[in-house]
Amino acid sequence: MNCQTDCEPAEDQMNCDDSDPDWIPDGADITENNCNRMDAGNTEPDKARNLTTYNRLQSTYIVPSTLSCWQFQQSVYMANIKRNGSSIKLGGDARCSSPGHTAKYGSYTVMDVQTAKVVDTQLVQSNEVKNSYNMELEGLKRCLQFLQDDGVQVTDIVTDRHSQVKKYLRTDHPTVNHWFDVWHVAKGVYKKLETLGKSKKYAQAGLWARSVSNHVYWCAASSEGNGELVRQKWTSILNHITVIHEGHGDLFQSCQHGDISRNWIKPVI
Ligand SMILES: [Zn+2]
Repeated sequence: MNCQTDCEPAEDQMNCDDSDPDWIPDGADITENNCNRMDAGNTEPDKARNLTTYNRLQSTYIVPSTLSCWQFQQSVYMANIKRNGSSIKLGGDARCSSPGHTAKYGSYTVMDVQTAKVVDTQLVQSNEVKNSYNMELEGLKRCLQFLQDDGVQVTDIVTDRHSQVKKYLRTDHPTVNHWFDVWHVAKGVYKKLETLGKSKKYAQAGLWARSVSNHVYWCAASSEGNGELVRQKWTSILNHITVIHEGHGDLFQSCQHGDISRNWIKPVI
């Protein structure tokens, strides 16, 4: 796509002259109110023409100027990273054009988790890969390749637990620390317990869903990346809900709360 830095239309888009009924000349009133007036009582051909005009304005002005601004900001950010000789820690995730496994397009976005700035985003079409499920990995690959080509070093990346992503990072980027996003884990745990709690027999599990989900966050946030400590804190919840608050493990021996009252679950003996 041609990118015009001063919002000028691309050359192949400048063939419209005033005799084209779809073409709106410079200075024309295209405010929202005016567009609404144009729509009021319009016939189908009029609506189609308005849509054509809208699409033309979008591709002529909005897309090129947005792209130009994005590329400029991205290049400034990348230059700063390299100038400081620093590496970055990323968070990445994909989104699809439709839910389920039939999406035609997927995008993958990586963000610098220390500055909360989006570093890169890549678009993948499902026919570029084996199927739509593979778009997530392909998007991540393109993001990392882009950063690598530009000389930016990635030390850490946080993603969901997508199996292809796990394998790819383990085999192709063994020096990059791969972390799982606690939000995805906590969400999965909450949903499972909430569903279980809907049955009469396990209603108490539902009462614990929010607490257990919050516990996942606390385990990750309070352990400074110590995996074994996270594991011991996480499994201690099985003791805690049955009113056992100590003897969880050598790294995490007892709960850190004071006297509390909860819907304790009586262990089956
Ligand atoms: Zn406890």
